[in-house]
Amino acid sequence: MGTVVVVGSINADLGIQVDRFPGPGETLNARGGTFSPGGKGANQALAAALHGAQVTMLGAVGDDAAAQEALGLLREAGVDLDQLAVQQGPTGIAVVCVDASGENQILVVPGANAAMGATAVEERADLVRSADVVVLQGEIPRDGIEAAARLAEGRVVLNLAPVVEVDPEVLRLADPLVVNEHEARLVHAQLQNSKDQGPEDEQELVRALSDQGCRSVVMTLGARGALVCRGQEVSSVESRRVEVVDTTGAGDAFVGVLAARLAEGNDLVEASRQAALVAADVVQRPGAQASYRPAWPSA
Ligand code: ATP
Repeated sequence: MGTVVVVGSINADLGIQVDRFPGPGETLNARGGTFSPGGKGANQALAAALHGAQVTMLGAVGDDAAAQEALGLLREAGVDLDQLAVQQGPTGIAVVCVDASGENQILVVPGANAAMGATAVEERADLVRSADVVVLQGEIPRDGIEAAARLAEGRVVLNLAPVVEVDPEVLRLADPLVVNEHEARLVHAQLQNSKDQGPEDEQELVRALSDQGCRSVVMTLGARGALVCRGQEVSSVESRRVEVVDTTGAGDAFVGVLAARLAEGNDLVEASRQAALVAADVVQRPGAQASYRPAWPSA
């Protein structure tokens, strides 16, 4: 069993179902609302644990009731939560609005996640060093992401979502960098230190990121699956055609499964193929973590 350490965000989500998103200044009645656990780090940790990895979550929660909501499914799945930081103040909150077509819009209040900077990560350095795979996202402070990437002695999976400015050297430690197309373009501009968002063609775009020193790149393409790039070689990973209910958390399921498979020793293309299979299943159920139940098809 491979070991995965996720250094990232933990949130309590408020999910709201609407027929359509409100425009600026508009008030709408929603069809319903529910609290559930979320945060990109926690989502990815859960997906990795449900897919057979031994997972430790490094993150921060507040000293409030929302923390219990945020950690419930991680605890049930056996994710090691012993090294979490507990901060005075609120747990991170995300308001996730889903419309009738399954599209989402998300607002995030970082709360305790803001405490997961370099100092908190370095206090847990041994754990980060010992992991087969360290998984990072863009929802904790920049110096926390950078510290974890530099400490890692195993493989770094960097899902730079949302895209935050990080040291280019850290982008080049990622193997892979996982981004959607929008994020890939922002990272391209970051690496170029310019406004150049890269070539129009998707394959050329991932090659351009690779040319700039990324060890490998996985670019997710929603219903079309993903592109996997190492050096100049690009492989296409197809997605299954499915009835979409809610895409919230699909990207996180993809990253969590990818990390679990890489920790087990799969190569990047095979790990991505299995991640895409699971993510296509997840979009057929509502919610983020709630849609990660382990009744997934075997790859
Ligand atoms: P989000 O932040 O909404 O979770 P994302 O932009 O990070 O998503 P996507 O590229 O939308 O990531 O989706 C991640 C993966 O999930 C895709 O690579 C694909 O494998 C799967 N996926 C997403 N949407 C669909 C869909 N409609 N049908 C099948 N698979 C899908």
